[in-house]
Amino acid sequence: MDGYRLVDEALGRVLYIDLRRKTYWVRSRPELFLKFLGGVGVATQLLKEELSPDADPLSPDNVVVLAIGVLTGVYPTASKVVAMFRSPLTGNLGESHAGGRAPVAMRMAGFGAIVIKGASETPIYLSIHDGVVEFKDASALWGVRSSLTIGKVLREREPWPGMRSIMRIGRAGERMVRYASVILETYRHFGRLGLGAVWGSKKLKAVVVGGKRTIPVADVSTYRRFYKELFDEITKSSVMQKYHDLGTPVNVLPLNKIGGLPTRNLTSNSFEGAEEISGEAFAEYSLARRVACAHCPVACIHIAVIRERYPHEKYFYTTRYIGYDYEPIYALGSMLGIKDREGLLRLIEEVDVVGLDAMSTGVALAWTTEAFKKGMLSESDTLLKPEWGDWRTYINMVKHIVNQPNDFYRILASGVEKASKVYGGSEFALTYGGNEMPGYHTGPGAHIGFLIGLRHSHLDNAGYSTDQKYIGKEYPSPQSLIEELVEEEVWRQILSSLVVCFFSRGVYKPSAVSKALEPLGIRLSEEELRKLGMEIYREKLKLKIRLGYRLEELKPPKRVFETPSPFGIIGEEYFNEALQHYREKVLQLLST
Ligand code: SF4
Repeated sequence: MDGYRLVDEALGRVLYIDLRRKTYWVRSRPELFLKFLGGVGVATQLLKEELSPDADPLSPDNVVVLAIGVLTGVYPTASKVVAMFRSPLTGNLGESHAGGRAPVAMRMAGFGAIVIKGASETPIYLSIHDGVVEFKDASALWGVRSSLTIGKVLREREPWPGMRSIMRIGRAGERMVRYASVILETYRHFGRLGLGAVWGSKKLKAVVVGGKRTIPVADVSTYRRFYKELFDEITKSSVMQKYHDLGTPVNVLPLNKIGGLPTRNLTSNSFEGAEEISGEAFAEYSLARRVACAHCPVACIHIAVIRERYPHEKYFYTTRYIGYDYEPIYALGSMLGIKDREGLLRLIEEVDVVGLDAMSTGVALAWTTEAFKKGMLSESDTLLKPEWGDWRTYINMVKHIVNQPNDFYRILASGVEKASKVYGGSEFALTYGGNEMPGYHTGPGAHIGFLIGLRHSHLDNAGYSTDQKYIGKEYPSPQSLIEELVEEEVWRQILSSLVVCFFSRGVYKPSAVSKALEPLGIRLSEEELRKLGMEIYREKLKLKIRLGYRLEELKPPKRVFETPSPFGIIGEEYFNEALQHYREKVLQLLST
């Protein structure tokens, strides 16, 4: 990359914010963006520089990096921002991606990355606009019941022109529930791995960022031509059409049909209520509208409406809008045996209002229900009687997770892994490297993928999609499966550094990425991109190891081997062989 310069110099600007001293400074780091393209590649380097390996995740020593990439605001669906930090849920590297307006707003504000350090003594929020950072008092916002209200108040208080994003935590973040989320605009989240708790520990209620500027490109006519090609492909592709029509809940029925929909804490692989909570049923009975992340023509975000009658007025109703996606439907729906669509929407709404990660919350409630039924927990622990399908009780349990009225809820607020160590039931505690399970029981690829993925997420390597590809065909050997998963994860480091939405991964193939970079003054062949993906993967792995990641500790929950998948019962021997191959592969990668 030597010899090139960043055409948009502002992208190379990194904003450093010290919450303790209430100061900020900017460093020009174009070399980082030229080498790593942005996002995960850049954030990994910044964390290596700033985060001490012994920093407690909920102490002022933890560091949060937000980063966008060279394609942000330039091409369609380059609409995500990545957050990297030390996760209070796993104790290791945290990585979470979100959309909304934040990525484009950061670029409009003139920063490629924001590094947040230290902690404030009193609640504050940051107002970052046109290169200026203001530290504003958030005492009046701290403790407000709904994260949605915070968004409304800040919209009024920070009325700037241009693109603006409001990222904030709810009460779960304030109370440092280790799977608290950060909510962006109204319907997007940094959901996974507890970024909300980290902000809460820093007394950081919100970050409002925005600006208004033009992004220069090196070659306008090639850019326009290639933009149109990408736009057409994205808007005409059948995959994107399905995300537009039904959104991610389109997956509910197909997964249920193949026996890959985790149900009632994965005691079953299919749900008798799947029809009621399918994408089709939501669209038919509840869909109000669709919205999109900034600079995305797909609009996969589906918003349902619920009406509630005023208690003393016969024909007067209040209407509320609730975003729904596949993952909340799985975690708070099938996983808890809830088929009442409106009840499920109300539970999703409560999780959003308090600012929790839907997936971790659903798995925590599912584990609690099973442990309660098995007598490992009593009503003096749970304070309520959890029962599959009883969404009203689950809403009250969500409130308890946030308020933590007793030891049990204080422990459950630390995650399922911690709770199962204290109360037993680790064999059905569905966590991977400390992170609660995503919604796929599609076969060995999904579970091995969750375990070895560097953020223990289904999005690392899409093992669930590898599984589905092999239904009705010969399944790969453990070695081949690992090779396939790692290869996918390596390529995804490029997508995560450009921070494009993974839903458009079929469009952003190596050849398309190489072409897209050219009008921006960056020349990288497909081969060079793949090599860069491997370098970023290796850098992330090294950072994880520095933070305490131990390959020998990778263990799946026993339940995975008890409930049939679309390939029947998953064999432990197959699983262990694959893990052994992965460990050898990592050692080999680290030695090169
Ligand atoms: S496809 Fe959906 S999640 Fe992805 S950028 Fe577009 S609106 Fe956002």
